[in-house]
Amino acid sequence: MGLDAYVACTCFRDGVTSEPPIPRSLIVVGPTGRPETVWDQDPDELVSDAQLDVSVLFHDWTDSACAHPFMELVSERIGNVMGVAWLRAVASGLDPGRFGRLTEILEGLSGMMDDLLPADEARAALPELEALLRESVIGSTRVLHELDGSVIDDELDSRPIDYVAFRSLGPSPGFRSEFDELVELGVEGYDFVVRSRGAVPGELFRARLVNQVWDHASASGPVTKYDDPIGLVTFTNVETGEEITVRSFGVRTRMRWPDGSLWDEEKGAWLHYPEGFMVGERKRMVPELWWVLSSLHRLFLAADQTGNPVVWC
Ligand SMILES: [Zn+2]
Repeated sequence: MGLDAYVACTCFRDGVTSEPPIPRSLIVVGPTGRPETVWDQDPDELVSDAQLDVSVLFHDWTDSACAHPFMELVSERIGNVMGVAWLRAVASGLDPGRFGRLTEILEGLSGMMDDLLPADEARAALPELEALLRESVIGSTRVLHELDGSVIDDELDSRPIDYVAFRSLGPSPGFRSEFDELVELGVEGYDFVVRSRGAVPGELFRARLVNQVWDHASASGPVTKYDDPIGLVTFTNVETGEEITVRSFGVRTRMRWPDGSLWDEEKGAWLHYPEGFMVGERKRMVPELWWVLSSLHRLFLAADQTGNPVVWC
C-alpha cells in the first residue's frame, strides 16, 4: 500500500505508437490521457466475453506501444502510507499565502487513493513547488537529544509544533502490558514528562534536564525485533534533584551493529539508554523532502507539458 502517480504520454494522440491490434474506431483517449476501449469509458457497462478478450489484447499492446513503458511519460513512487501522512502533515505547516495551491493538493493526498489532478491545477501549483524547492527551511520540529548533542529522536513533530499538547513517546494508554504500573513518557513544551496510564493520566514527573538510570537487572523479556524490554528506570530532575523510579521502556535508541544492521540474529537489538538528555528544537530542511518534492516536480512538469492529469494510484 502507498501512493504512486503517473502522467500518461501523448503518443497515441500524436500518432506515434505502433499499430494497435484492434480497430481505431474502438479506441478513445480516456480521462487519464491514456487510450482505452470505448466500453472502458463506462465502468458500469456490462462487457461481453468477446469485448473482454479485445480489452486484454489492447491492454497488452499499451504496455509497449511506444517508447514509454505502459504509455506513462513519468511514473513516480510518492511513498508508503506513513510517508504520505508525513508529507501531508508537513504541508499543513506551509505558508498558505505563498503555497496555498500546493498545500491544497498535498493535504488531499492519502496512502489509498485513486484520483486525478487536472493538468491546469498541476500547472498552477508548479511555480509554488519550484519556489518551495528553492527554500532552505520548511518549519521546525522538536528533538530529543543527549547533552553532547547525540540525537535520540530527530523528529518529535510532523505537524506545526503544539507546545501545549502532550506529545507521547509511548506507550499509549491502550498498550496492553503485564505491568499495571507501566508509565507513559512524553514531552510537553520543552519538558520531559512521565505520567500514569489510567483513564485520567496523572503527572508523576517533569524536568527539562533529565538524568536516566536504567536498571538492567530488572529488565523483562523478551526482546524481539519489535519489542524492547520493560524495566525499572530512575529519572532525576538535574535542576531540582527530584527523582522517581518507574516501570518503563525507558528513553532508548537502537544502535547499529558494526555491520550496519539494527538487529543481529544472535545478539538481538543493541539498546542504548542515554544517561542525560533534554528536549531541543531544530529547523526541518527542504533537502529532507527533496526526493518526494522532486518526484512531484517531474509529475507536475509532465502534466504541464502534455495537458494530461496527474493520476494518483
Ligand atoms: Zn509514449
